[in-house]
Amino acid sequence: MVKDTSMTSPLFKLGLAALCSTLLASCAQSPTGRSQMLLFSPQQMNQLGADSFEQMKKQEKVSKDARMNAYVSCVAKAVTAQVPASYGITSWEVVVFDSKQVNAFALPGGKIGVYSGLLKVAKNQDQLATVIGHELTHVLAQHSNERLSRSQLTGLGLAAADIAMGSSEYRGATMAALGLGVEVGVMLPYGRTQESEADRLGLELMARAGFNPAEAIPLWQNMSAAAGGNTPPKLLSTHPSNENRIAELQAQQAYVLPLFKQARANGLVPQCKA
Ligand SMILES: [Zn+2]
Repeated sequence: MVKDTSMTSPLFKLGLAALCSTLLASCAQSPTGRSQMLLFSPQQMNQLGADSFEQMKKQEKVSKDARMNAYVSCVAKAVTAQVPASYGITSWEVVVFDSKQVNAFALPGGKIGVYSGLLKVAKNQDQLATVIGHELTHVLAQHSNERLSRSQLTGLGLAAADIAMGSSEYRGATMAALGLGVEVGVMLPYGRTQESEADRLGLELMARAGFNPAEAIPLWQNMSAAAGGNTPPKLLSTHPSNENRIAELQAQQAYVLPLFKQARANGLVPQCKA
């Protein structure tokens, strides 16, 4: 019998923190307990996410491959089903982009983009769930809000009002802050702390969905191996990796494997076929 840890998990506490920040910006706290400076409301972030997603759909080729779309949606649906209701995200939009790029992203407001090139590196449903869980966590932990807030203070010239109104003058910088490096020339990588948070809580999300969290290790190994190839993963430029990542993922298995086994015992056995 595995103890139900859902109420005490970092993911659940993070949900409360997100709820909290909709009421009072200053009480925002990341899942690891660091305080976050967030200058934008969740409503503003959702609007920015939705606008940027529309922009991406115009810039990139949207895949019409029915089987690939069904596969990616199957994995995304299972993972997003584990996002606590306290985040207030009622629906998710998942789009597959037809591109060799090894990349994926999630945006505030329930938007997920996966490039078909990623499927060459994320070789099974568990590895794809690793990436989706990681990207989702960047959104849930308000990393994009944090980054946008910081870029405003460090004088990138972003004005909150302009951003909130979706001024096209600021679109490039805003999209970069959301982790979308398209046509901007600037890639704003996440910090090491944010990467660790995304890895840790992403693992928890996928494990609760019944995906095998042990597959996170070969996934990141594949990603590193692909870095020396013809199409180095774009994901790595916004999600810097380091030699500690694999060790941390291994250390976290003791916490997430029981969650995975419990999910399987409860009948959550995803069977998404590539
Ligand atoms: Zn990341």
